[in-house]
Amino acid sequence: MSTVTLTREGHIGVIMINNPPINATSHSVREGIVDALDQIDADPAINVAILICAGKTFIAGADVSEFGQPPKAPILPNVIKCLEASTKPVIAAIHGHALGGGLEVALGCHYRIADKSAKLGLPEVNLGLIPGAGGTVRLPRLVPVHDAISMITSGKPVSSTKANEIGLIDAICHGALLDAAKDFAQTIQKLDLPVPLIAREPVKAPSADEWDDITTTTIKKARGQVAPVVAIDAIRTGIDKEAQTGLTFERQKFVELRDSDQSKALRHIFFAERSVGKLPEIDGIAPNAIREVGVIGGGIMGAGIATASLLAGFDVTIIERNDEACANGRATVEKHLSGSVKRGLITQDRFDQLLAAFSTSTDYAALRNADLVVEAVFEDMNVKHDVFGKLSLHCKADAVLASNTSYLDINEIAAKCVNPGRVIGLHFFSPAHIMKLLEVVHTDKANAKSLATAFAFGRALGKIAVPCGVCDGFIGNRIMSAYRKHCEYMLEDGALPHQIDDAMVEFGFPMGLFAMQDMAGLEISWATRKRLAPFRDPAERYVALGDYLCEMGRFGKKNGLGWYRYDETGKAQPDPEVDTLVIAESEKKGITRRSFSHDEITHTILTAMRNEGDKIVAEGVARSPDAIDVVMVNGYGFPRHKGGPMFISPPYI
Ligand code: NAD
Repeated sequence: MSTVTLTREGHIGVIMINNPPINATSHSVREGIVDALDQIDADPAINVAILICAGKTFIAGADVSEFGQPPKAPILPNVIKCLEASTKPVIAAIHGHALGGGLEVALGCHYRIADKSAKLGLPEVNLGLIPGAGGTVRLPRLVPVHDAISMITSGKPVSSTKANEIGLIDAICHGALLDAAKDFAQTIQKLDLPVPLIAREPVKAPSADEWDDITTTTIKKARGQVAPVVAIDAIRTGIDKEAQTGLTFERQKFVELRDSDQSKALRHIFFAERSVGKLPEIDGIAPNAIREVGVIGGGIMGAGIATASLLAGFDVTIIERNDEACANGRATVEKHLSGSVKRGLITQDRFDQLLAAFSTSTDYAALRNADLVVEAVFEDMNVKHDVFGKLSLHCKADAVLASNTSYLDINEIAAKCVNPGRVIGLHFFSPAHIMKLLEVVHTDKANAKSLATAFAFGRALGKIAVPCGVCDGFIGNRIMSAYRKHCEYMLEDGALPHQIDDAMVEFGFPMGLFAMQDMAGLEISWATRKRLAPFRDPAERYVALGDYLCEMGRFGKKNGLGWYRYDETGKAQPDPEVDTLVIAESEKKGITRRSFSHDEITHTILTAMRNEGDKIVAEGVARSPDAIDVVMVNGYGFPRHKGGPMFISPPYI
């Protein structure tokens, strides 16, 4: 069946694109649009055209299966030229998403109308690219330049309301889109054909000073990513020079970026995120329906998990130890939800509805109808056994029971449960209602139904769910433990905390390991180390510097002293007292300190990550190196544009 059809309804030609799932700009679509335009041009009975899509969305991007292949004519920029050159007005009727090439097609049309829930954007920077079919030249000729810059450099789509405000669309329509487009066609058919965007002057160009500010801010926000900065160059060229010069420049930069390491890395992680949760063993297995979610423990993680579950539309009950803890859990959930109202993510009405779907209790009997329960109590095996014993007693036989433990053996937790096949791990990251990553831990006895339910739950929460097996720390914490150890070795061998952190930031992490530890607080891992001290292998190198800091009362950022010294504004300064401590420790151990370059530090950290990653894959804890990349990028600040520790190859810089 053809992906593009033209039908005539009176004097209106309707170009219908039907190329599921996203109506991508595949070769047949590009060819079909050009053919349809030729027919419209030749048909004297047609005096206006509507370009509309079947299915869930307008054109939402390019055809990924054509990536890496030589371009086949007509290429998209030429399709858009044909649209612009049409002597009869073309109306883009948009529903779902008009993204990337989809929005560029719409910009080639003479008018744009959109459904009220539509989203429009140029997300190319997310793949290390810039728009390649005129987006950087046409968009600033239609909407205020600052809006165009923001859309192109952030990659974030705008709603149809915003699109209407800035002039990106001509109308928002309610009701059936095709009918609305036909009504709109009646209103414009007697008007002169609008000047194509390419022939218009940009809407008020920025001054030279403003361009400098825009460039500086973009470089800062891009944090090492090239594409947003190149996008500014392209937009500026399209504004300062002839539009045609802009188009040529944009295409040249698009092609350069497409072949760049950053774009390859960003495309790798984009596809890895989409494939990582597709497990053959749950293919075709229907998950349990989930309506009620139980959360055990209303602390940091429990309250976050409860918030995420409420926001996904589930009824949620938190079980706590006593009324005071229930009240604390409730207060935290309310605080998180108020934050969502403040950030404009939910309305006050929705806030009220979510709170009405939320309850707390000290009685496990409240979970009798729960479909899925997540345990987030203290990290202690006896407490976990106690909780899962109660869950076995009170929950439905097929309720999926999940633990959010960071390190404990979930197989051991499952072993004492009634029906262990339904016990799994759901390892959330803090703050659980914000962080996208979720490790779904596959226990030895977990059945396919429970796994399918866990992944469906993850999807409903909007998380990137990564399957992993049981081991100490699962994927992410295990890799972090490995590279932390090597960072500590480097301290004793000659590096200082701020040098290691600076190298990590220079590589693209939002912060270094030691600053991160200060932020989390040093005393929790200190307590864990003390607890595990009797089990430590005496032959293994142990770095006690973190223990010394805690003994000195330096618990991290919250008390102003940790690996760094913090001023009253919370800004970290390297502390000579810590440097002295580090140097003294090397002397005590008889280690001759040497200097470390940033490159060597980065190389050491990435090699440690890679080696541990290889082990994790070999053991089957991660199903592929891609799973490790997805975890490290989404949970541990690994720079997305470097693709992940398994993707990147030496020399790492
Ligand atoms: P927390 O101390 O903030 O909260 C634990 C809560 O559990 C407390 O409110 C406590 O009252 C409650 N609780 C304890 N025993 C209970 C019982 N028998 N019944 C009901 N409630 C009980 O701890 P947290 O940071 O939220 O961690 C919870 C779990 O999540 C731990 O297993 C931890 O390892 C794991 N985890 C923590 C993080 C993190 O960043 N904090 C990240 C991932 C996983």
